[in-house]
Order: sequence, then C-alpha cells, then structure tokens
Amino acid sequence: MIDYHAIIVGGGIAGIESALNLANQGYRVLLVEKEASIGGNMIALSKVFPTLDCASCITTPKMSEVAHHENIDIFTYTEVKKIEKDGSNFKVTILKKPRYVNEKTCIGCRKCEENCPVYVKHEYERDLGARKAICIPFTTAIPQVAVLNPADCIQCGKCYDVCPTEPKSIDFNQNPIEEIYNAGSVIMATGYTITPVDKKKEYNNGTFKNVVTSFQFERMLAPSGPFGFVMRPGDGKTPKNVAFILCAHSRDKSLGIPYCSRVCCMYSIKQAMLLSGAVPLADITVYYMDIRAFGKNYEQFYRNAEAMGINFVKAKVAKITEEANADLKLYIERIEETGKPDTVVHDLVVLANAIIPAIDHSKILPIEIDEYGFIKQEHQKDDPALTSIPGIYVAGVASAPKDIVDVIAEAGNAAMKASNYINSNLKSSTEKIKQGDK
Ligand SMILES: Cc1cc2nc3c(=O)[nH]c(=O)nc-3n(C[C@H](O)[C@H](O)[C@H](O)COP(=O)(O)OP(=O)(O)OC[C@H]3O[C@@H](n4cnc5c(N)ncnc54)[C@H](O)[C@@H]3O)c2cc1C
Repeated sequence: MIDYHAIIVGGGIAGIESALNLANQGYRVLLVEKEASIGGNMIALSKVFPTLDCASCITTPKMSEVAHHENIDIFTYTEVKKIEKDGSNFKVTILKKPRYVNEKTCIGCRKCEENCPVYVKHEYERDLGARKAICIPFTTAIPQVAVLNPADCIQCGKCYDVCPTEPKSIDFNQNPIEEIYNAGSVIMATGYTITPVDKKKEYNNGTFKNVVTSFQFERMLAPSGPFGFVMRPGDGKTPKNVAFILCAHSRDKSLGIPYCSRVCCMYSIKQAMLLSGAVPLADITVYYMDIRAFGKNYEQFYRNAEAMGINFVKAKVAKITEEANADLKLYIERIEETGKPDTVVHDLVVLANAIIPAIDHSKILPIEIDEYGFIKQEHQKDDPALTSIPGIYVAGVASAPKDIVDVIAEAGNAAMKASNYINSNLKSSTEKIKQGDK
C-alpha cells in the first residue's frame, strides 16, 4: 500500500510545477517543503529575465493552485530526512518541525506578529530587513500561518495574549514529529542556495558594509523588499555609482567552484536594468569575463542593457578594499584594453555569487551526486530527470544551476517520468487512484 503516488521534495518552482503536472493527471501527491512557506527562491526574486515579469505575479498563482489542488497535500516547515527503497516503492521519513502555532486554527491575522517586541534579521530579506520572533514569513506566504522561532523568543507571552482564536493558536508545547510515508515515486526538487558574501575574502572579508550578495540586491529591487527602494546598507544613502561583479565566486578553482553558475550574467544584467529605472542618475558598471546570454532573446536583452547606457567592462576584479567613507576601491585588470592593473571606486558593489546545492543529498539517500554535490543526471542530454535510482527523478536546480525556463521544462519531464514509473508498477488505473486515495 502506498500513501501517495509521488512525494516531491522541495516546494520551489520545480517542485510546484512537478506537483501540478502529476496532480492534473489524477495522481495523489505530497509536496514537502522545509521552510515555513512554499515558493522557494523564485518567490523572493524581483522581476525575472528575459521578460521582466514580476516574479511574485507568476509564482503566487502557481503556489495558490498547488495549495488548492484536491490531489495535492502540502507539508511546510517539514524536512525530508530519509528516503529508502521499498520494493518498487519508497519509504520517506519526514520531520515536522514545531511552529509553536497550530496550523489548523491560525487565521493568519498577524496580531501575534504586530505585538511581538523582538526584532531579528529577516532570512527572507537575506538579512537586510527585520522580522519578529513570531511572524508570517512574507506577505504572500502559503500557508498564511505564523511561525515562532524559539531561539528568538523572550517568552513574554504577548503573542498568546493577543491571539484571537478559540482555543488559542499559539502552542508552546509542540514537539518535532517524525512520520513515514510510502510513495510510488519521488521527485527531488531541492534547489539551491548561493555562496556567502565572504566566500572570497579578496571581495569581502565579511565586514564591508556596501558589498552585497546578488540575492540581497534582488530583494532591494523587489517592490515588496525590505526598504522599498535601493540604498547602501552601510548608511542608507542612495548609491550613485554601482558595480556588478560577474563570476564573483563561480569559475574559480581556488574556491572549489570551477563551474559556471549559468544565470548570473543574465540576472546581473536584469538587476542593472532595474537599477537604472530605480535610480536613473546612477552610473552602473558591469565587470565581466564573458557575457553568457544563452537563451531565447537573451542576447537582445543584453544589447538592450548596453543601449540603456549600462557600462560593460571586460575585466577581472582582483581585490576590493573599503575606503574611509565605506566606498569600495576595486583593483581590476582590464582584459581587452591595456591588460594593466587599474583601480576604480564605487559606492555599492553587487557580487554575482555562485549557485551551490541547498543540501547534502548524501545524508538523505544513497543517490549519485556530482563532484559539486548536485544530483547526477544519468543521461543529461536525452533523459535529464533520470537519477541513479529508478523511480527517483530530479527537477530544477537540484541537478545543476539553470534558469526558470529550463526548470519548468525539467519539472514537466520529471513528472512524466514519475508517471510512467508509477503506472508500470500499479496493476490498473483504478487501483492507481484507490491506492493513492488513502
Ligand atoms: C540572484 C538571482 C536572481 C535570479 N533571477 C532569475 C531570473 O530573473 N530569471 C530566471 O529565469 N532565473 C533566475 N534565477 C534562477 C532561479 O532562481 C532558479 O532557476 C529557480 O528559482 C530554481 O527553482 P528550484 O525549484 O529548482 O529551486 P529552489 O527555488 O531553491 O527550491 C527548492 C526548495 O526545496 C526546499 N528543500 C531543500 N531541501 C529540502 C528537504 N530536505 N526537505 C524539504 N524541502 C527541501 C528548499 O527549501 C526550497 O524551497 C535567479 C537566481 C539568483 C540567485
């Protein structure tokens, strides 16, 4: 007996798309997300290349569809801990982390959040803004249920006092719960994170106030971002002269990341364009080794940025130092011109951090991974969803850095592969539905 036809690990755009593809064919799906909301990295982006659509406007309807689909169950704040083969099926161990808020009774009114006196760095804003110790992670989060972080809580009890539900939704007695579910197939959609700002000490030893990560800048550009406008985190001033450094951590053997992170050229060009709209008088320079505008209309996107007056300089940035006024001095080597070292000063620097796997997959299952920790694709060209374990498929950045267009295509492919696998192991289509209906 199985509980679900498919369990999908990761509620980013790859997981959401795979879930919808399977559920629309009548399969019962469990989508498991370790964060307090589904949406993954995409929901936190500002606008997306090459169309410059608002990321949230594309992601939110899909998040909502998956949440309301009759064939899909979603567990958020739940981590997949172990996946074991069980005949042709899979035994999946999950850990439901305590929210200290009852998911069934919380009405998402945010009264607890408004009355909580504790401010801490906001992970969703990539540490730029502040959140409360108890909060709904972001405005369009799904589910609209608060989560309390016990490490931040001072136990003042204010959230409990103002909670309007009967019985109270705040529940300090919750414990982690481990459960096991059986599934006919598994899709790994575990996604990515980016390298930390101080990964390369020559660019930021962790103390430079006005050197930010690509994702921090993404949040600054987002209409729903931490400040609502672009500013230097160091002093709140509007930047006048911004540098983007491509391949900041990628294609660097010394950092153990010799590969290209694939989307950085395009998202940095996008960010430069959005910045020129947000701060029209700013000088904007992109330091690059090559521009890899690999997709449909991407080259034109790059040319449009040049036409907008964004300055593209083919140069390698060797080092950054901080000036007394927290401006940044870049030591560069121009590749096309003199080849001689040069220095330039900018008042804000945005790094194109490398994309790395979000988790150590080997801790969950004995799946083959590549030397950088991404899930190995058995046939990268002609069967990209196939992994080393029959019945387990991969979708999205879990296998390698890629853009949303490719993520969506792969998610459909993974769902189709999972569907074929489930069907070949179930005796009839009636049983297919019955078993999953449990
Ligand atoms: C700064 C920046 C800007 C970008 N801009 C663009 C753009 O404009 N256009 C574009 O096409 N692409 C862009 N991209 C790339 C885009 O973000 C990705 O292609 C896309 O979001 C990847 O989706 P995903 O679902 O594969 O991964 P993710 O969004 O990372 O989702 C994976 C999910 O899995 C969850 N998870 C991981 N492990 C577990 C576990 N054990 N149990 C449960 N859940 C788990 C994670 O919490 C996460 O929510 C950008 C990337 C960056 C870094």
